[in-house]
Amino acid sequence: MRPSSKRLTLSFDNGPSAEVTPNVLEVLRERELRASFFVRGIDAADPVKRAILDRASEAGHRIGNHTQTHTIQLGSTNDPQIVADEIGLAQEALGDLSEPERWFRPYGGGGIIGPNLLSQAAVDFIAAGHYSVVLWNSVPRDWLDPQGWPEIALAHAREQDWTLLVIHDTPTGAMLALPKFLDDVIAEGIEIVQDFPPDCVPILRGKPVLPIDHIVSEAR
Ligand SMILES: [Zn+2]
Repeated sequence: MRPSSKRLTLSFDNGPSAEVTPNVLEVLRERELRASFFVRGIDAADPVKRAILDRASEAGHRIGNHTQTHTIQLGSTNDPQIVADEIGLAQEALGDLSEPERWFRPYGGGGIIGPNLLSQAAVDFIAAGHYSVVLWNSVPRDWLDPQGWPEIALAHAREQDWTLLVIHDTPTGAMLALPKFLDDVIAEGIEIVQDFPPDCVPILRGKPVLPIDHIVSEAR
């Protein structure tokens, strides 16, 4: 094991799942790791899922807003009502699960970073509500490759100084590979941290802090 200055941040999207997430929380607890869970508003309002999110929050994990329904890419609409429903209703559903910092991750439709993510109406809503937009720089598509994703994620973590990994605590079987993946990362001396790499947070508390033109559509 060689010390490395490389860092990895873990984020879990589209959960929680009663079959998967409790085990993910246990795997993280055993290794004293903290992560972030980006959830839909409709899931945060479900009592069974809510109880899992409460446990995650109490264990020190971040809970972020991943839209109300995860069906509409905000780059496809400049309708302020749709934007308010997708971001604002989800934030209301999160309620006290949300940190003072309002972490928002757009629905990426498979992980593409482009004008699919936001519209001007979305940027305006994010600014008014002081949301912070959290993107990513590693999507190993675990839902398509439940066994192979760790190898891809590990390659990203080796290549990049600070990797923000997106995986999914949903019942695909992919999270069965999580313990070994984490142990491999740790064995390589890559530090697993909870903070987000600044390169992946283009809007902080409502203000663009990085160029955002490439993630905002011309939708009218
Ligand atoms: Zn998602």
